[in-house]
Order: sequence, then structure tokens, then C-alpha cells
Amino acid sequence: MDLELGGKVAVIGGGSRGIGSYIAHALGAEGCRVVLTARDAGQVKEAVSVLNAKGIEAAGVSVDVTDADSGERISQFARDSFGGFDIYVGNAGGNRRKSFADTTDQDWLDLLNLNLLSHLRVARSAVSEMRSGGGGAIVFISSVFGREAGGPGLSLYNTSKSAMISAAKIMAIELAGEGIRVNCVAPGSIRFPGGSWDRRCIEQPDAMAKFVEANIPLGRFGTAEEVANVVAFLSSPRASLVTGTCINVDGGQSRSLI
Ligand code: NAD
Repeated sequence: MDLELGGKVAVIGGGSRGIGSYIAHALGAEGCRVVLTARDAGQVKEAVSVLNAKGIEAAGVSVDVTDADSGERISQFARDSFGGFDIYVGNAGGNRRKSFADTTDQDWLDLLNLNLLSHLRVARSAVSEMRSGGGGAIVFISSVFGREAGGPGLSLYNTSKSAMISAAKIMAIELAGEGIRVNCVAPGSIRFPGGSWDRRCIEQPDAMAKFVEANIPLGRFGTAEEVANVVAFLSSPRASLVTGTCINVDGGQSRSLI
């Protein structure tokens, strides 16, 4: 299936490594011009040159997405590089494990800023950009733990990832009439070289084998390519009737009925 993404411009918030870099490659392989953002200028430069080496047109900007002016800076960079953008993928994110009673106001501000507000800032700029371009697609990378309880120690992560799904739903309703679709992807446990699951598999192979057997019906970790494929579909005109939803990419891991 041709995803009809040729010539579109896609901005990926947090795209220099991990799942974000696989999303950049998937969208680039479908013909998108790609704008990468990450904190480390050296990593951004290297990620852009890897894309370029594959014949993908790409540009990158070093931005900390938790900075208050990050949304405007990223949009301006996309305008300067490619004249605007049609797709925004909010991927940057992180976790801070702590029991709820030990969390501080600063923990909540930090995690909500990184996992939620950073993407809402870029999305706000994206909306005005997409309005003038006649439409677009926004995809936030949430988590299965945004859809169901992740367990003890995960109040910060769970809350920020569910809030992302909630915001996307309201954005989808408000923006539908303007041809802007907003969706989320909820990955389960995704293993890629250098990622946290990969580290755990190397350090504790037996425990991880048991974890997979007990938790993932498909019997293996997900790959970052499998997440990226779903993001590429949701970003594309082929998903023209899909908005306001969240798609699990988890091998059956999540237990929630909704
Ligand atoms: P990762 O740590 O490998 O990558 C995170 C990305 O975010 C990197 O590109 C990093 O540069 C960027 N980033 C982090 N903080 C930033 C900041 N302040 N400013 C700019 N960029 C910043 O993580 P990953 O596993 O690739 O996860 C990507 C997304 O997928 C995250 O939102 C994560 O919560 C989500 N997720 C991952 C898994 C998994 O199993 N790996 C599962 C569910 C959800």
C-alpha cells in the first residue's frame, strides 16, 4: 500500500535515538522530509547524516523540549528548513519511578513537562502551521500504561501518559473540521539495541524470559519498527477516518478492554 506520504514534512519530537529514530526512518522511507529534534547537537547531526545516507531529506535541531520556547523554535526551524510541516510526532518521553508518597511537586512538574506539555507546545504551533497548509496529522507516543494501571512506582509515568491520550481526544474533536487528525500510539514493551528492555534482557535473561512468557501473549518483545509502522500509517492520508483514537502496539500485553 502506498501511504501517499511523498513530499510531506514530518517533525519528530525526540527523534535522534530509540523509537523516535525508527519513526524518522519509517516516515523517510515513505517519502517524507524529516525534521529531527533532540537535546544533543552531536546526536542530532549524526542522526541526520544517517538519514541522508539512505537518501532521506532531513534536517535536525538541538532543542530541549522541556524549554518553554521549544514549540515555537521547532516550528520555526521546520518552516526555515522545509517551508512548514504536515505531521508532528510527539515521541520524547521518560519515566521516573517512585512511590507516590515520595513524589515531590518538582517530580510532577518535570514529568508532566517532558511527557505532556512539551508535545502540547509543539502541537499548538503545528495547528497554526497545518491550518494554513489545509490539514495534517499529529501522533503522540503514549504507552499501554497510559491506558491501564502500570503498577506501584508509576504514578508519574501513568498520569502523564494518560493525560496525553485525553488531550489528544479533545484536540481531535476540536480540529476534525479543519482536516487535522490527532491520534496516539501506545507501545507495550519494545526492545531495540541500547534501549532499557535490551539492557534488562542482557543483564537478566532468565527473568526477562519469564516476564515475556507471563505478560506478552505474542511471546516476544515488540520492535521499534513495529511501532514506527503504525505511526507511519496514522500519519498518512490512508488513515483518513482515524482520529481521536489510541492504538496499542503491544503483542497483546495490555489487559484493558478499552
Ligand atoms: P529513549 O530514551 O530511547 O528515547 C527518548 C527520546 O526522547 C530520545 O530521542 C531523547 O533524545 C528524547 N528526549 C528525552 N528527553 C528530551 C528532552 N528533554 N528534550 C528533547 N528530547 C528529549 O526512549 P524510547 O524507549 O525510544 O521511548 C520513546 C517514547 O516511547 C517515550 O515517550 C516512551 O515513554 C515511549 N514508550 C516506550 C516504550 C518502550 O518499551 N521502549 C514503551 C512504551 C512507551
